[in-house]
Amino acid sequence: MVGRYGVDELTRFILLLDCLLMVFSLLLRNSVMNFICIFLILLCYLRMFSKNYSQRFKENQMYLKYYDRFANKYASVKYAIQQHGIYHIYKCPSCKQKIRIPKGKGKISITCPKCNKQFIKHS
Ligand SMILES: [Zn+2]
Repeated sequence: MVGRYGVDELTRFILLLDCLLMVFSLLLRNSVMNFICIFLILLCYLRMFSKNYSQRFKENQMYLKYYDRFANKYASVKYAIQQHGIYHIYKCPSCKQKIRIPKGKGKISITCPKCNKQFIKHS
């Protein structure tokens, strides 16, 4: 493996995808999926034994960029679901800043921490 690119996050992702496709192809007995699985394994080997570091690194960075977007979106949805039962999320009418207010406090005056605009809401 000296002088070869090796395993990175994109290769691991392709291998995971390949394992999932193998299970589905075994269940469905689909020959097209078998060819896709073989292609993905060959792609992994080509990436691992490649000597073109810069191109493999560039591909991995592109994958990580999309992965981070997905992970951030998933984390924000998960956080919103956790906070839903405890807090109301209001947007400031002037600057659209999200403000978290605890539920069950009745009618309250809210001051935006960003622009100091005051508005009244039920919590
Ligand atoms: Zn504001």
